[in-house]
Amino acid sequence: MTPVPSDIEISRAQTPKPVDQLAEEIGLLPEELEAYGRSKAKVRLSLLDRLHKQPDGKYVLVAGITPTPLGEGKSTVTIGLVQALSAHLKLNSFACLRQPSQGPTFGVKGGAAGGGYAQVIPMEEFNLHLTGDIHAITAANNLVAAAIDARMLHEATQSDKALFNRLVPSVNGVRRFSPIQISRLCRLGINKIDPASLTPQEVSTFVRLDLDPSKITWQRVVDTNDRFLRKITVGQASTEKGQIRETGFDIAVASEIMAILALADSLVDMKNRLARMVVGTSRSGQPVTAEDLGVSGALAVLMKDAIKPTLMQTLEGTPVFVHAGPFANIAHGNSSVLADKLALKLVGCDGFVVTEAGFGADIGMEKFFNIKCRASGLRPNVVVLVATVRALKMHGGGPNVSAGAPLPKEYIDENLSLVAGGCRSNLRKQIQIAQLFGVPVVVALNVFKTDTQAEIDLVCEIAKECGASNAVPCHHWSQGGRGSLELAQAVNEAASRPSHFKFLYNIEMPIVEKIRTIAQQVYGADDIELSPEAKAKIDYYNQQGYGSLPICMAKTHLSLSHMPDKKGVPTGFVLPIRDVRASIGAGFIFPLVGTMSTMPGLPTRPCFYDIDLDPVTEEITGLF
Ligand code: ADP
Repeated sequence: MTPVPSDIEISRAQTPKPVDQLAEEIGLLPEELEAYGRSKAKVRLSLLDRLHKQPDGKYVLVAGITPTPLGEGKSTVTIGLVQALSAHLKLNSFACLRQPSQGPTFGVKGGAAGGGYAQVIPMEEFNLHLTGDIHAITAANNLVAAAIDARMLHEATQSDKALFNRLVPSVNGVRRFSPIQISRLCRLGINKIDPASLTPQEVSTFVRLDLDPSKITWQRVVDTNDRFLRKITVGQASTEKGQIRETGFDIAVASEIMAILALADSLVDMKNRLARMVVGTSRSGQPVTAEDLGVSGALAVLMKDAIKPTLMQTLEGTPVFVHAGPFANIAHGNSSVLADKLALKLVGCDGFVVTEAGFGADIGMEKFFNIKCRASGLRPNVVVLVATVRALKMHGGGPNVSAGAPLPKEYIDENLSLVAGGCRSNLRKQIQIAQLFGVPVVVALNVFKTDTQAEIDLVCEIAKECGASNAVPCHHWSQGGRGSLELAQAVNEAASRPSHFKFLYNIEMPIVEKIRTIAQQVYGADDIELSPEAKAKIDYYNQQGYGSLPICMAKTHLSLSHMPDKKGVPTGFVLPIRDVRASIGAGFIFPLVGTMSTMPGLPTRPCFYDIDLDPVTEEITGLF
């Protein structure tokens, strides 16, 4: 329709097919489905065993140029592409998307179900609660936080013997270690399974985690942009006997448990990763893990349903997995390995799985390859690089605009020199970054109604000159799948070419060299500069045996450099590494390039002002 109605109007005008019908169409057995209402269902991981002999489909990553406040539309391109592949080219295809946090839904950005005629439906369910995975992560994360503070209180107020008697209770006169405790004893080098045989020194080592309160890295989480929780003081009631300390809240999707959900490839793997999570350091400098706290089994219990991807559908009735949504700076920002694996089996060897990476290709795609593909063993066939004329104009020297502000005329009227400037700088660089990994690149120009034909033609022409295997305009937002047919054909063609995928760095390289490789080869920095704190942390991680983990750079997404206002392709800069942290359960080291907020705030007029419910029809309004 013209004009294109609002996202929620389009979503509501389409009745989703019952999820069991969708499941049958894509070859799921009834016992592999756990329905949550009529239009969404979790899919059991037993499917992987049933289909293990089935060859995988083609694996397509959607990434973007460096984001601007003008928006690029990676999610809409992802959905438009699968709609075109499935509904129009009749090739089996699956979209794998991240579950959005409620922070942005009620805050500034709004939902993430795509937009226009390229959406996941019902978009209300996609954007809110879904099947409860983020709530499960919140519960698990906060159980760890409660375990930390309670344990410190108990250690501060009890003798070694009292602690031992409580931690290893006597049942019918016999004390036995639990499996989690035996595992801790092994790590401490105490190879005894009879509690009575421990020496007093061993008892003390076993019962005292002796967490250094100033070195606890674990925070509490909530899925709301609640900026007043960024720094809090806990333990102020007299019952906590003066165990007061400063800590804080992150938004739930910044929890390491979210990153683990996204990277785990089985229940066993998730359980092991949860156990390995380091929550802080003891006074003697040893890492303290969730397993040391005795909580890892309970975490696996809380997360046992969250590990199953949720099946939904696009506006055109094609299948979508929604699963995990880790932060794209302090974590890797990609949807789950398991959703991709299940989808690759379900589509079969001629089918396509289209998955999305957060932020620009320099961040989301680099992490997709170096972290997610390393964890999954999966190898991509094609990268789709999303660009818009207006974002390219900004990279080409157009004026800065804040989100939601009226657009200056440069972004409304034809301006070929700004477009060319953006293409020859940021677009070219992002194409080159994808080529570092040896994967063919198709540029998808997400067309807005203000774009002129000359601007569209120019982008496609320069993108091909810069090495893209193809570059095509896409009209999925205004036309649905048929508007992305050219993209679907280009992706199908690119996927038939050989992909020579390779990692950017050898995992065994020293941590500093891995960071330098990303900074120089991907961001275009002259070099890196490590703060004394960063150097000390790297030494500590090496001592602890964490040196062979991949790197997850926590850098601004608004520039290839560390300076958010430097658009295009900044040069002549040295990348400062302020600090280095580690998510040992998720399995990466994350250097901090500048300060990263892990708890967003609310603006003066957040999205929630427009969100309402009709109590008679139960219809939601104002979501976008
Ligand atoms: P990203 O994934 O890059 O954050 P989305 O795909 O979620 O971006 O799109 C962001 C917003 O921009 C959505 O509200 C979407 O409806 C809107 N949008 C995307 N493409 C277009 C387009 N071609 N024309 C108009 N609005 C669009």
